[in-house]
This record gives sequence, structure tokens and C-alpha cells, in this order.
Amino acid sequence: MTQIILKPGREKSLLRKHPWVFSGAIASVSGKTQAGETVDVITEKKELLGYGAWSSESQIRVRMWSFDAQEKINTQFFHARLERAIEARKRPRLDEYTTAYRIVNAESDGLPGIVVDRYGDYLVCQFLSTGAEYWKQVIAEQLAQMLPAKGIYERSDVDVRQKEGLQPVSGVLTGEAPPDTIEIKEGDCRFHVDIKHGHKTGFYLDQRENRAAVAEFAQGTEVLNCFSYTGGFGIWALKGGAKKVTNIESSAALLELAQRNADLNQIDANHIENIAGDVFQILRQYRDENRQFDLIILDPPKFAESKDQLKRASRGYKDINLLACKLLKPGGILFTFSCSGLMEAGLFQKIVADAALDAGRNAQMIRRLTQAADHPTALNFPEGSYLKGMICRVW
Ligand code: SAH
Repeated sequence: MTQIILKPGREKSLLRKHPWVFSGAIASVSGKTQAGETVDVITEKKELLGYGAWSSESQIRVRMWSFDAQEKINTQFFHARLERAIEARKRPRLDEYTTAYRIVNAESDGLPGIVVDRYGDYLVCQFLSTGAEYWKQVIAEQLAQMLPAKGIYERSDVDVRQKEGLQPVSGVLTGEAPPDTIEIKEGDCRFHVDIKHGHKTGFYLDQRENRAAVAEFAQGTEVLNCFSYTGGFGIWALKGGAKKVTNIESSAALLELAQRNADLNQIDANHIENIAGDVFQILRQYRDENRQFDLIILDPPKFAESKDQLKRASRGYKDINLLACKLLKPGGILFTFSCSGLMEAGLFQKIVADAALDAGRNAQMIRRLTQAADHPTALNFPEGSYLKGMICRVW
């Protein structure tokens, strides 16, 4: 087998079971390498550290499958890893609460580059690395055997694949093609999900627990739901007793789905308003009009894709948080998020603190928020914690 020999000292992160080997850590490669193939990773003293998938194009040259010298990377290996991930979703119990949840969370479930989500009768997968791509058919076959599903659909139409030299692809892997939208249940709420074209694999499953948290604060409130996507936070707020929800979303097509979701949940038309437009601009307009809200949700898309975008991203977060603070009634509640993995929780907290200060308001953090339990972070892979949020009370 091809051997990847590391530079002296570069085995440290691997000894801590971090699954990535960067190009700069590699001293030499003995043998031929082909995209996605399994390679041995060894120290300069020729000690075997484990087995990983080779990726010649990516800065992450190897993603480790296993740190166990006895383990073989074959169908049985993937079966065992999938089984472990499936078992892990039984606690906390999700199946009665929701019909949509993550079954495999990539690196954090010991399956780098592989995402599997359930939406009712369908499974939706993403294969984000060359290693994942190489084993795709095996994984799809194993999933079809292990989990009941009408069909398995692939949504590997994402930019990160470019870094691995892979084309975007989507389509049916096994079984039936899903309908245009399927209905999922999340607690007492129902949502239409477009798994063929929606963001991610169709729905922001990672925000499930935070949507439920909004309901705790919503009784009797007027809510501004910024970056609403298909209206998830808004529906939960209304179920929690909100008087009115205003969704702001740049995509009119997504707002149509948000309205269909409101109808599905029998929300009275007077209780919901859908505004197509740019949050940055509309928040300014509301400030000029002296509009006030009891509860504001800020769940923007990723503002920082790389380290050099972090400064600009910080300005973006500061801007919307400052405007939101101004629009809150005294004692109002702010749910604020960043899903940029590069934005650390400490820096995000500081940005929101600066925003409140510049808005001339006092703010207290009531709760820290993160991604739902079906999106775990392996402790050896801190990069897996990308979603951070806070519930703040603003005086
Ligand atoms: N809160 C949602 C997910 C939000 S994702 C949920 O839980 O389901 C971010 C959304 O912001 C996307 O739907 C995207 O279309 C929208 N968006 C991106 N930039 C925007 C902008 N400047 N103004 C308004 N919406 C924007």
C-alpha cells in the first residue's frame, strides 16, 4: 500500500486522533497515489499511525479513516461506523419528536466527508471529499440495507467539493426519487422540505433545538425573524404564542415555501408577514421608522468562508446585531447566531457586546446555543463545532 511519510514532529495532531493531514506535514510519498484510495500514514521513524483517504488536490491531503493498525478499510469497516452512528441517534431519542434528523455527521462520526440525513421516508447524503466519493456506492448500499427508506438521494452539489477536485453532483443513489417537497414533523410543527433544491440537504436541521428555544420566549411577542429561509423559527415562535411574526428573506421563492409552511401549521394570515429583501437594508429602514419588536432572530448565512474574510464578516455581524439591538423594546430578546466555523465563540460574543454598546443598550447573555445533538462534535475535531449562538436580553 502507498505510504505517506510525515515530517518529524507532525504526527502530534494524529496522535491526538485529529483526522486531517495537511500537505505541509508530508515529507514524502512512497508509491502511487490515486484520488480517494486508502493510504498508510507513518511517522519518519516508520511507525504506523493509521489509514486514511488520499486527496491530491486538497490542502487536506489525507483524511483519516482509522487510527487502529488492525482495522481494514473495507465494506465491513463502513458498516460498523454507520451502525455506530445510527445507534448514537437513539439517545437522546429523536424518532418520536421529529421525522428529520442527521444520522451521520462526517468527521465527528468517524466518517470524514460523509453526511447522511433522514427526511421521513428518504435519506439524503453528501459526499464531500475524495475518500467519501471513492466509497460512495458501498456506503449507499450499506445504508439501503441498514435503514428503511423509499430512496436515497445525493446532494453533493456544494462548493467544498471543488477543493477536492470533485464536480458537484446530485440525484438518486438508490430507490425512488423524492417528490418536489416532502412533509416533516418537528415537535408540534410541520414543514415542507425541498430535498432536491433546498439549502444543505433541504432544512437547517442543526437549528432544531434553537427553534424550540424560541417558543419558550415567544408568548405574546411581536417577532422579527431575519434570514428566515422557509420560516422555521417563525413557525416555532407562533406555536409558542407569538402575536405576530415578520420573516425577512432575500429569496422570494423561499418565502413562498415559508407561506406554505405557515398554511400547513394553520397560522392565521394576520399573524405572519413575509418580506422579500435584504436584511441589512430593511433593518435600517425599520430603525428609521422607529419600529420596535419584542424578539429578534438573526440567523445569517456564513459570512466568512476563509480566514481573510474574517474582518469583513465581523463587520457584517456587528452591523446586524447593532441594528437589532436598536429595534428591540427594553427587555427584548435577541437570538443571534454565527455559523462560520472560523468565527470563535469568544470573538462572536465580543462583537455582539460591541454592537449593544454602540447601540447604547445594555445586554445580558441568558443562554449559549450550539448545533443540535444529532450534529455532535468529536472532541478530537473541534472544527466540527461551527454553529454558535446566544440568547440575549437587551435593556
Ligand atoms: N433560520 C433558518 C436558516 C437561515 S439560513 C432556519 O432555521 O431554517 C440563511 C438565509 O438567509 C438563507 O435562506 C438565505 O437565502 C438568506 N439570506 C442571505 N443573505 C441575505 C440577506 N442579505 N438578506 C436576507 N436574507 C438573506
